[in-house]
Amino acid sequence: MTYDFDMFVIGGGSGGIAAARRAAEHGARVGLAEASRLGGTCVNRGCVPKKLMVYASHFPDQFEAAAGYGWAVGDRSFHWPTLMTAINGEVSRLNGIYQNMLDKSGVQLFRHHAQFTDEHTLAVGDATITAAKILIAVGGQPTRPDDIPGIDQAITSDDIFHLPEQPQRIVIIGGGYIGSEFACILHGLGSEVTQLIRADKILRGFDDDLRAEIHGAMQRRGIKIIDHIEQVTINKSDSGLTVKVTRRGSEASESEASESEESATVFCDVVSLAATGRSPNLQGLGLDCTGVEIKQGAIAVDAHHRTAVPHIFAVGDVTDRVNLTPVAVREGREVADTEFGDGPSPMSYDTIPTAVFTTPEMSTVGLGEAAAIEKFGAADIQTFSSRFRSMYYTLPDIKTKTLMKLVVQKSTDRVLGAHMVGDHAAEIIQGIAIAVKMGATKTDFDATVAIHPSSAEEFVTMR
Ligand code: NDP
Repeated sequence: MTYDFDMFVIGGGSGGIAAARRAAEHGARVGLAEASRLGGTCVNRGCVPKKLMVYASHFPDQFEAAAGYGWAVGDRSFHWPTLMTAINGEVSRLNGIYQNMLDKSGVQLFRHHAQFTDEHTLAVGDATITAAKILIAVGGQPTRPDDIPGIDQAITSDDIFHLPEQPQRIVIIGGGYIGSEFACILHGLGSEVTQLIRADKILRGFDDDLRAEIHGAMQRRGIKIIDHIEQVTINKSDSGLTVKVTRRGSEASESEASESEESATVFCDVVSLAATGRSPNLQGLGLDCTGVEIKQGAIAVDAHHRTAVPHIFAVGDVTDRVNLTPVAVREGREVADTEFGDGPSPMSYDTIPTAVFTTPEMSTVGLGEAAAIEKFGAADIQTFSSRFRSMYYTLPDIKTKTLMKLVVQKSTDRVLGAHMVGDHAAEIIQGIAIAVKMGATKTDFDATVAIHPSSAEEFVTMR
């Protein structure tokens, strides 16, 4: 049978666009459907606008540090609408770049929603389109927990970029990437921030020393973190929202006191932010017309991103594996290379570096200490760490600390994990990640000559 396209991609985010362009480079006839702005979550309501807000939030620290270096910084004020307009302008610019890239690559773009009508056929707007292979790259969306009464009063991270005014007081529910990043961003921009988390510390799953470092630093900077939360209830009041919190092992008791051992009532503006995870966008895809399998709310795929239907693939957040933009891009390109290029080039999920753009920033690659001990046993694991004040903070006498940590397997001398909390952590760990991925040993790290004076040099001088 002849199909309209060799491959049709549903979704114009990071993974879908990468796959479509790469397949077209290999000579495939490719179509792509995206009803919304090109670039997906990352460009429109994720990494890009978030990172621009992170930059904006750092200026008060820089003004403070400037004084220590002899600079007098005059009156300062922050204007939320100016930042939002600038960010939206930059996002539009990037949308245009994606459009140009697709035009140049020869991928045919359909500005409509696509829905399966059978395993080779899609309804795309009013058109019926057939394809030999179909790639689902529709991403995910924020979840709103249904166990929080009044949660419909809360916005999600998608909405924060469209707030006309800066929230003066905000409650953020969730201690993961998004909750912690936005707690720091909004605090840096001058909002009063309360973060509610279920665990004892933010960022569950990361190395415990790093979690403790950031958690403590955020509290010292003035973010109120209420831990061990058990029940949250949001109520609308005349002056905004009232968020009632019960902590574990206690009974709710509403009180005027902002915080007690067992319960707390926090008042905020019309804004409380639910940052409690994301889930795959499966609605409206017509998957019931196909044999594609769903497991735990996500599209199930094999190591080559193939669903239960051999010619239908899925990449990125819709598969809920490692929900990071560069991973989706890799997965998308791998599908294109495998199906239209020189054969399989499987990506490794072993040592994926990542960063959390909190203040201070955290970045990490490989195993944390607890994960390494679980895998290899405590007797085979050695850790090295260094906690120090970087030179930049000495003249302004700012107490901010940098933490670096290496996790090493004794029997092989291999560096299993490298972790950092501090300025430019993402920039530094990206380089270290190459060494870790290549299987560098602690001896290799030690044999590397330091760049002095720098913070990064600690990674090659730890004893
Ligand atoms: P995460 O999975 O990182 O964190 C979710 C948080 O919400 C956890 O702290 C979790 O608590 C908490 N939570 C879940 N349900 C409830 C509930 N009912 N009540 C209270 N708290 C709850 O999700 P995010 O939304 O922060 O981010 C989604 C994904 O987006 C990340 O996993 C990441 O892959 C990606 N991302 C990456 C970024 C980056 O690379 N810098 C930035 C932003 C997002 P608990 O720990 O107790 O389960």
